[in-house]
Amino acid sequence: MTPGPTQVRENVRLARAIETTNPDLDLQFYDFYRDTCDRIGQLLKTKNHVRILSGEGILGLEAACASLTEPGDRVLVIDNGIFGEGFADFVKIYGGQVVFFKGDRRRQIDVDELEKFVESQGNFKYATVVHCDTPSGVLNDISRICPMLKSKGIMTVVDSVSAIGGEELKVDEWSIDIALGGSQKCLSAPPGLTFLSISHDAYNAMENRKTPIASFYCNLLLWKDYYEKKWFPYTPPASDIIGLRQAVDNVLEDGDILSRHKRIAEALRKAVREAGLSLYIKDGFSNTVTAIEVPEGIDESALRKDMLERFNVMIAGSFGYLAGKVLRIGHMGENARVDYVSYTLFALQKSLESFGFKCRCDMAKTFMDLIDRNQRLDK
Ligand SMILES: *Cc1c(COP(=O)(O)O)cnc(C)c1O
Repeated sequence: MTPGPTQVRENVRLARAIETTNPDLDLQFYDFYRDTCDRIGQLLKTKNHVRILSGEGILGLEAACASLTEPGDRVLVIDNGIFGEGFADFVKIYGGQVVFFKGDRRRQIDVDELEKFVESQGNFKYATVVHCDTPSGVLNDISRICPMLKSKGIMTVVDSVSAIGGEELKVDEWSIDIALGGSQKCLSAPPGLTFLSISHDAYNAMENRKTPIASFYCNLLLWKDYYEKKWFPYTPPASDIIGLRQAVDNVLEDGDILSRHKRIAEALRKAVREAGLSLYIKDGFSNTVTAIEVPEGIDESALRKDMLERFNVMIAGSFGYLAGKVLRIGHMGENARVDYVSYTLFALQKSLESFGFKCRCDMAKTFMDLIDRNQRLDK
């Protein structure tokens, strides 16, 4: 029950086992790759090109920055969490000049403040923003941030690795130039793949560079005409892509997926608070992951070890400035299930109590009662 990698459904595991050919030479594989990209486009609500690259989510972040950044470019890095801040490293590696907009790390980015900041700071080539910053679980309102920046001529790169599939994402309507995700979070395929949607403006910026893109593996332009040329820059990991395709189909076929994430996350947050625990985030809660403050005097890694050993439930701690301070329950993708989450709350409560923390309610029961009530209200 961690915020990714998540559990992988049997049909995805089986898809990864089917026989493959040489994907560089098999023309059918070019069609399969293209159709898989189109289905990811459906998920992202975009007509832009989508490309799947052979590397974990981080490759998507680096490829976007490598392809867009030229030495000296001013890049706005929107930071209210660890991944938000981390974008700056990729921008700098490729010679960009980073300007931070720092938000409150317990709240979503204040879009009006951001707009004022941008107006006072002048031109940026593009901005980076994280949809759900997973170490804290803060969700940024990219439905407002990206169109606002676009109206000022600033392209946006959105890291939606831990949100795509669990939160709404409308790439075209929200004018997102590059949106990227990973296989192992809400899509619930194993780690190993990243995918990106690339707008016309983003391609234009890449094609009109004065300096070449300083990478081969991270060069998105090399992928632009792969289908017409029947050429992949490197051999695609066929089995990983076949598995991802099944995982994407699972998500597309699931008409209830976003509302289920919402129902589960809301009931979980409420149950946790009623038990007397505190949530780390004050506003902008992601429906994919929840960070709970570790009660005074409890060693979070010992608590997690106890949950794993006695109940076979694995939740996560966090890292960076949050290390040791929060516990995180991932309720995304295949893990967004009422039975899993209620058992997780049961185990969390038992472990907390054995470490001396008294919960003010039965968390699993409170959670189930809320789910039950909301399901009836939905009908
Ligand atoms: C998981 C994740 C990534 C990919 O990074 P890893 O931690 O290496 O899996 C990138 N961005 C966000 C927001 C993520 O949650």
